[in-house]
Amino acid sequence: MREIDLHVHTTASDGTCAPAEAVKLAADSGLRAVAITDHDSAHGYPEAALAGAALGVEVVPGIEISTKFGRSVHILGYYIDPLSPEIKPVLDWVVQDRDERNKKMAALMAADGLPVSYEQMHERFGEVIGRPHFARVLVELGLADSVNDAFDKYVEKGRKYYVGRTIFPIERSIEVIRAAGGVPVLAHPFQYRLDDAGLRELIEHCLESGLQGMECRYSGYDTDMTAYLLRLAEEYRLLPTGGSDFHGANKPKISLGSGISGELAVPYEYLERLKEAAGSF
Ligand code: AMP
Ligand code: FE
Ligand code: FE
Ligand code: ZN
Repeated sequence: MREIDLHVHTTASDGTCAPAEAVKLAADSGLRAVAITDHDSAHGYPEAALAGAALGVEVVPGIEISTKFGRSVHILGYYIDPLSPEIKPVLDWVVQDRDERNKKMAALMAADGLPVSYEQMHERFGEVIGRPHFARVLVELGLADSVNDAFDKYVEKGRKYYVGRTIFPIERSIEVIRAAGGVPVLAHPFQYRLDDAGLRELIEHCLESGLQGMECRYSGYDTDMTAYLLRLAEEYRLLPTGGSDFHGANKPKISLGSGISGELAVPYEYLERLKEAAGSF
């Protein structure tokens, strides 16, 4: 049943819809609930919650933290208290580190004569800026055909304007989400291109730090992929979650609630179990 979407980015990070617009899309799609899961930021939630109250959509506070286990791995956190002393300094640090990187990327572009500045980027895109924002500007300057093309040509690792950032350890990210009252969930497990043994190793490592859930329904995951992830979740006693990873125009193929070609459908029951784990109701 298509009832909820637990993975949505807004203009509080690298999505192109404002939080209230994302909630409106959820309402228009007939969803009962939507989680706002911006990268490194919980700032989209208050606006989304207000819109949710007006539109009759339940809005779940969330976050997505970039970490590393060999390769880049993302951890979602639901129902964290973003002001908790356990997590606030961490999020502040991550955003600050990201910003140091952004300064360097803007400087590289400016050195090539492009009309790009760090200050301008902030004025236009807000506090949490990432490579998708730079990609969008490169498209507007006519240097690429799409955000994806701009990634391929300029901001993917190894490309001209790529600058890395410090990645927060996976163990700590799971621990701080727990410490802030949240439920940590392994995001989009197939994106890491691991085989069965590799994915199990990742899950077992995360379980040691307190992982509680795994995203089993996700844009582009077919019935077999989802069935495999649901089996793994059951085996490891992880809560199944699901969401689209909607980013608006930055990932234009993905629709909120329904994925790429209607393959995504996340039942409300997943949220009920998540809430029990968070102890928030
Ligand atoms: P950053 O955290 O600033 O290094 O940027 C990474 C983010 O860029 C990821 O979380 C994705 O949301 C986004 N991203 C990565 N590759 C692409 C792509 N090819 N097209 C659009 N967005 C992408
Ligand atoms: Fe993103
Ligand atoms: Fe992600
Ligand atoms: Zn995401």
